[in-house]
Amino acid sequence: MYTQLLINGRLVQGGGEPFTIFNPARGTVLTSLPEASAEQVNEAVLAADAAFDSWSQTSPKDRSLLLLKLADLIDSHAEELARLESDNCGKPYQAALNDEMPAIADVFRYFAGACRCMNGAAAGEYLPGFTSMIRRDPIGVVASIAPWNYPLMMAAWKLAPALAAGNTVVLKPSEQTPLTTLRLAAILAEVFPAGVVNIVFGRGQQVGNPLISHSKVRMVSLTGSIATGQHIVQSGAATMKRTHMELGGKAPVLVFDDADLAAVVEGIRTFGYYNAGQDCTAACRIYAQKGIYDKLVADLGSAVSTLKMGLQDDPHTELGPLITAAHRERVAGFVERAAALSHIEVVTGGKRGEGEGYFFQPTVLAGARQDDEIVRREVFGPVVSVTLFDDEDQGLRMANDSDYGLASSVWTADSGRAARLAARLQYGCTWVNTHFMLTNEMPHGGMKMSGYGKDMSMFGLEDYTAIRHVMIKQ
Ligand code: NAD
Repeated sequence: MYTQLLINGRLVQGGGEPFTIFNPARGTVLTSLPEASAEQVNEAVLAADAAFDSWSQTSPKDRSLLLLKLADLIDSHAEELARLESDNCGKPYQAALNDEMPAIADVFRYFAGACRCMNGAAAGEYLPGFTSMIRRDPIGVVASIAPWNYPLMMAAWKLAPALAAGNTVVLKPSEQTPLTTLRLAAILAEVFPAGVVNIVFGRGQQVGNPLISHSKVRMVSLTGSIATGQHIVQSGAATMKRTHMELGGKAPVLVFDDADLAAVVEGIRTFGYYNAGQDCTAACRIYAQKGIYDKLVADLGSAVSTLKMGLQDDPHTELGPLITAAHRERVAGFVERAAALSHIEVVTGGKRGEGEGYFFQPTVLAGARQDDEIVRREVFGPVVSVTLFDDEDQGLRMANDSDYGLASSVWTADSGRAARLAARLQYGCTWVNTHFMLTNEMPHGGMKMSGYGKDMSMFGLEDYTAIRHVMIKQ
């Protein structure tokens, strides 16, 4: 197992306290890893700062070639990486191998192409005798902080645009799920010049904090919770850092009477429970119009009750465990408080799974009201609530009445209504008659308290650049 940090091109053992890594499907210890010491965090930032001058001056073509090489190496190590991801997260192995690994390699391939195709405003003589032009230049050292739900995918979303744009990076994976990122560290060391990419491991307080507050870090990119985002934005004010925030979500799913019920049920069964619902875009907050509500609740309950929970290597497993015992208790708490309300019906699930792993049954809660905690707060587990609405205006109002603003979907046969709602939903993404689908060419990111950074797409690349004006006297 690869357990070392990557600092200034060298793989080194962490000098801090040990931290235990679990297999959440079995509740067993996988390994114990030393965190980075504060000194090592400082070394990593100084190495990235020292590497910036030459890396930022490389041509897009040269950066592109290294990103393509990295993508090829990810492909050739796909089975090993999927195994580590599956063991560390409890994800079904086949899903890690077939869904995640190809998508991860494609992130690097997309940005390898994108950095050679940046667009901009026309240069010109906007004052007579002076030529003005716009540049989009790299920002400097980027501190990237990743969450535990898709560890390697999130590392790819952070590394690829930052490096493609000519920045240098210090990346910290989640302390709970570092194994694929530490394996990647050894691969990165083969591909990039010393200091261009650095990987440090450890908890938020001990390792994240000195990283995000370092004076040489010019930008902090986080995918994580709102609380961590608020902390990073506040602490960044001292040195006026740029921030790129991809935070939590609570996606509304508006289902109208004219929707294709079978497609809705299949969609929510898939997109509400993928990765055990530990997904910021999970289809978890269902609003069903009154004519379809009863049938939707009944059919969804039956469909969700057939989801197969299990261990990673069972090819029939659709649903893995939650990431930690503590997170399972948090999810169970949400469900127990909801179930205690007299208007809520537990249609299926509602309980912890059996065995040593941190499983929680796939759950449907019907009769939820707009002000219920289960409707308003992010659960981040295999739990879907269903709320009734009367008409389009009310449905839209309820869907938008949320602090979150990441993703949403509308299910209807009426394309006019779909267009009307897509224009008025306050979410970074609206899907129509589908949910959850992402592609590297299109941006992913939130509004409101879900944050403001964009991942993937040209917009993601632009987020890692500074717009500059150059004026030349003729
Ligand atoms: P978290 O905020 O607890 O942790 C995220 C990362 O931040 C971890 O690496 C953690 O160590 C680090 N961190 C924590 N405190 C820190 C500090 N003081 N300084 C620096 N780093 C610190 O979130 P999590 O529990 O790992 O992930 C789940 C959250 O992430 C959910 O809210 C989910 O919605 C969100 N998420 C969002 C997206 C998106 O694209 N918007 C994608 C995946 C997950």
